Amino acid sequence: MSTAPGPAEATAASTETLTEPEAVPSGSVREEYENLVDLVRKYRFAYYQEDEPLVSDAEFDDLFRRLEEIEALHPELVANDSPTQEVGGEVSAAFAAVEHLQRMYSLEDVFSLDELEAWITKAEAGITKLGDTARPAWLTELKIDGLAVNLLYRDGKLVRAATRGDGTTGEDITHNVLTIKEIPQELTGAGFPPEMEIRGEVFIPSKAFAEFNEALIEAGKAPLANPRNAAAGSLRQKDPAETAKRPLRMFVHGIGAREGLETLSQSQTYALLEKWGLPVSPYFEVLGSLEEVLAFIKRYGDKRHSLMHEIDGIVVKVDDLATQRALGYTTRVPRWAVAYKYPPEEVHTKLLDIAVNVGRTGRVTPFGVMEPVKVAGSTVGMATLHNQDVVKAKGVKIGDIVVLRKAGDVIPEIVGPVLALREQQEPPVRDFVMPTECPSCGTPLAPGKEGDVDIRCPNARSCPAQLRERVFHLAGRGGFDIEALGWEAAIALTQPAEPDVPPLVSEAALFDLTHEDLANVRIRREKRSKGVATGEFELVPYFYSKGTAKSPSKPTATTEKLFKELEKAKTQPLWRVLVALSIRHVGPRASRALATAFGSMDGIRKASEEDLAHVDGVGPTIAAALKEWFAEDWHLEIIDRWAAAGVRMKDERDESMPRTLEGLTIVVTGSLPDFSRDEAKEAILIRGGKAAGSVSKNTSYVVAGENAGTKLDKAEQLGIPVLDEDGFRELLANGPAAATAGGVGPEDADESEDSAESEAALESEGVTE
Ligand code: NAD
Repeated sequence: MSTAPGPAEATAASTETLTEPEAVPSGSVREEYENLVDLVRKYRFAYYQEDEPLVSDAEFDDLFRRLEEIEALHPELVANDSPTQEVGGEVSAAFAAVEHLQRMYSLEDVFSLDELEAWITKAEAGITKLGDTARPAWLTELKIDGLAVNLLYRDGKLVRAATRGDGTTGEDITHNVLTIKEIPQELTGAGFPPEMEIRGEVFIPSKAFAEFNEALIEAGKAPLANPRNAAAGSLRQKDPAETAKRPLRMFVHGIGAREGLETLSQSQTYALLEKWGLPVSPYFEVLGSLEEVLAFIKRYGDKRHSLMHEIDGIVVKVDDLATQRALGYTTRVPRWAVAYKYPPEEVHTKLLDIAVNVGRTGRVTPFGVMEPVKVAGSTVGMATLHNQDVVKAKGVKIGDIVVLRKAGDVIPEIVGPVLALREQQEPPVRDFVMPTECPSCGTPLAPGKEGDVDIRCPNARSCPAQLRERVFHLAGRGGFDIEALGWEAAIALTQPAEPDVPPLVSEAALFDLTHEDLANVRIRREKRSKGVATGEFELVPYFYSKGTAKSPSKPTATTEKLFKELEKAKTQPLWRVLVALSIRHVGPRASRALATAFGSMDGIRKASEEDLAHVDGVGPTIAAALKEWFAEDWHLEIIDRWAAAGVRMKDERDESMPRTLEGLTIVVTGSLPDFSRDEAKEAILIRGGKAAGSVSKNTSYVVAGENAGTKLDKAEQLGIPVLDEDGFRELLANGPAAATAGGVGPEDADESEDSAESEAALESEGVTE
């Protein structure tokens, strides 16, 4: 029965429909194939033996797939030692080689949900053919990004631990594994077979990894690149005392030799292993259908960054052990399991340059310019490096191949250099040197105050780069919300190629702009050919059309839109005007609190520092920043000129609005069809409620829209009432009595401050310049 066609073969066969099979491999196919084999071997060696990958996993997976594709079309090329026939990994001479009692395998990978569906459908058909008419149950669990380890227990005592190696022979790492407290040296209870191999993954939990790296940086040492390589490197130390310092943990997910152990299913085996004291992952589920498996993948995909350890995918296994045995193995993988890999979040690319940016409050920030590369679903060419200390700590040099990471929708991060490739770079790599003068206005740079790591350009008033950033910021969605004033328009207004004197030398003149001011503005723009950048630049008019003999130059539609939006911006509420002023640390949350407390710009300006600091959600740092800002004459000129142009400096309070949410703290998460985030917040605030950013026991309600993530989970954990959009409307209109979702009312509605509304949280608003 073990010869039944399994899903592993099914994938290879199905690739034939993608490309026409060639009867005889051409010379170029053979050459490509041989090159691929060499590359895959080289990369495996660096990854498994040296714990220092030369390419990202995604690049490796692409090469491996291509290899499989060629082999499917040209089976005659496949030699016994092809990488596709082997479990990757070798045994280093630094460790004693040990034979596993039973072979260890890798897993077949799929990279899309469609492929997973095809795999499961095929597997179910294969299982039916075996004579099993019941639908199989799928044990679905997290694919832990760690290192595979085999533990050998004799009479319940741990006698040996080894790496996977080539699947048959591994490296003896017993002494190192003995330092991991969670792994029992002796099993508890009874009934275990006299000889038993337990397989699992050793990993470093995400939080411990971050702390460990921080400690390394503090000690002046290079941080470890990622938890997987760190776990592998830690376990393969020569000195167990070194391993003992690393925060290693293990979850078991399989069993090898087990003579005499009778269990019916993988899940039943897990229960038994747990009883014997072995660490079984709490995150597995036995599921009855493809739909449930897909839902599991989605659920963990959404929260993969808040789990205790890194995962790179989900493993789906046939739960029934008899069926597993019937399906058997290929030379490399079991036919009864598959790994779905999430889209890659870590790639390698070349760091072409480290440039510096001057932010809107003058902070000078180095950032990496890279060869654009696709990561976690979007193309990335730049990433901030924060300050010169971070550049130093990461150890990156211009010209290095770097590891670039983008976790979920989080900002891209340069993790560090691939040191093994540094010597080969052409031209040779060079150090980044922080400039001593502002690259925009030439003013000498200095820390804002003694001891600050950040360096600033003190020429806040007329540094063109700072002005450009402020103008871009004031038009943002949290500010005046002027769509026609994007990044390029901000450059055109403050730093055009022509004329010499830009239309704006201060944002004070924003609302006095005329058509005439914009008529001759030209910017330098890169020429594109069929959408692709050519590297050549030309001067083009920005706000007006080019104009010909027949039709004179005239304002573009976007320029007319800009003027219309400027008119509309004058009617925006006070909090948006405050955001638009680029006062340090004052973002939308603090602005809303200030507008609610004082009602007018004049009121805020005249308030004492103490009064400002007492406003709920403001605090002493923001209060000091406000006082400092209002003390500058040129800042007051901005307010005066905007007011003279008709910008609203006072909120008309709608006294008729019922204060239905007085004393309630509400968190909105996910997307609501009829409310933007800002609208939802505003609706809460004007009814006397508090709009908080994170869920705590003081939260009264959580309003959850589509794709609500961890906040919804937390609300459920804490038993906080959750409302959908209709429930939210009810709550807005009639207060808590009307919105007792499932009959549960807010028990702690009148408790004070949500922790996320602290000043620390607010201050972070001013940090991103
Ligand atoms: P794999 O990592 O894709 O999957 C097999 C392994 O997954 C198993 O050996 C097991 O240890 C582990 N695993 C984690 N959680 C599991 C669970 N719940 N149940 C069962 N097994 C679980 O395969 P592999 O052969 O170890 O390595 C191949 C992968 O390693 C590639 O896909 C690639 O991403 C990476 N790799 C990268 C490079 C590189 O240069 N960057 C080189 C070689 C391999």
